[in-house]
Amino acid sequence: MKIDPVKRALALRKTLKKDDRVMVVDFSETLQGKDTSRVIDLMPNVATGEYVFRAKVNIKEIDPMAAGVYGKDFKDVTKMSDAEIEGFVKRAEFDFPLWFKHNKGFSMGRVLDYNPPFIMQVAGCNFHDGSNTGGCRYCFVDNESNDGVVGSGKTYISAREAVDSFVVARGKVAAAYAEKGADLQMKVLRVSGGEPTIVLDWVLDLWREVESRGLDCVGQIDSNLSTGTLVDEFERQGIFEKHTLEKLAEFPVKVLTALKGVDASNLQDNVQSTATLKQQLYSIKMFLTAGFDIFPQMYNPNPASLEGYLRKMDRQIENFALRVHIGPLKAYGPTKARLQAEAKALGIDEAAHLADVQAQWDANYKNGCDVMNDYLQKTYGVGYRDVVRSDVGLKLR
Ligand code: SF4
Repeated sequence: MKIDPVKRALALRKTLKKDDRVMVVDFSETLQGKDTSRVIDLMPNVATGEYVFRAKVNIKEIDPMAAGVYGKDFKDVTKMSDAEIEGFVKRAEFDFPLWFKHNKGFSMGRVLDYNPPFIMQVAGCNFHDGSNTGGCRYCFVDNESNDGVVGSGKTYISAREAVDSFVVARGKVAAAYAEKGADLQMKVLRVSGGEPTIVLDWVLDLWREVESRGLDCVGQIDSNLSTGTLVDEFERQGIFEKHTLEKLAEFPVKVLTALKGVDASNLQDNVQSTATLKQQLYSIKMFLTAGFDIFPQMYNPNPASLEGYLRKMDRQIENFALRVHIGPLKAYGPTKARLQAEAKALGIDEAAHLADVQAQWDANYKNGCDVMNDYLQKTYGVGYRDVVRSDVGLKLR
């Protein structure tokens, strides 16, 4: 049975927000924590000592520590021209540092500051039904970190504690990089999930706290694009103050908008919820209208319907297809655990199931990139990832 994302969000809200605190993942014992702390250690809430923050190095090649850990050829940005840095970063899978290209204070020479975001994860997602096979099939989050159930592996944190912890962690990370002869001051505060839009009021508190301290940082929030209907409902019920999105959009926060399907069945198969393309489009328009700069990341598109989807979106939103990146999918620890549980429930061989799903994801990624490239060439005269996404603004037609 597929889950209704708005009903699920309303249920999750009861546990995800308590007074001025939000429930986040304590990564200490999670597969995700192990997968993502190979370069920068997990970091604690300085008030409690619980390890609720992680930093993921987005582009390994330009990071003096991550390049070695991940066996990549190191590209030393201190020896590259601005054009060379930009040319390399814009083609990277996680081109996220360039999202801030037009923000005050950004310079190509300081691109490393924008490469490892300081991440906290809201401990529940409204595409997840709480079971061991729930949520998007390729989700990188452990099921226990995404079910919204109060218990071990989760804890509450206030906006003030989050900002205190960011300031301390930023100093420690800078010192660790300095030991390797690198100059890096983490700049990006990222609220991920789970689904952060269920607790947008807390995210707004967080940015009000950042502003009150005059901190020099920028932000990212992630959305599964059920946001539009969700925010409408939460504002209608008085859970969020009016115009929450507009108020948040006044801060230097970019939004990762995850496109989890390009036709009805592609979307619902991927996310295992009753989310619709209509809701997805409504949410994108709502973010844009509120004043956000959004960056669509697409996962597991059906190559057969991708071109039609891009054409339709371009008719409604200027430059839309130029802004889309397709993400390759890899079965990390939590994903494998979910697919194994899925195989068990279906009574089929786990290893064969994992291999089949991975092969389908790989094919959809490869064919999706080809479709995207062909479409961009014939529509805009440029290839896929030829442009810096932040250089091409989105506008409702
Ligand atoms: S991938 Fe994102 S939207 Fe999907 S279940 Fe995981 S956290 Fe939720």
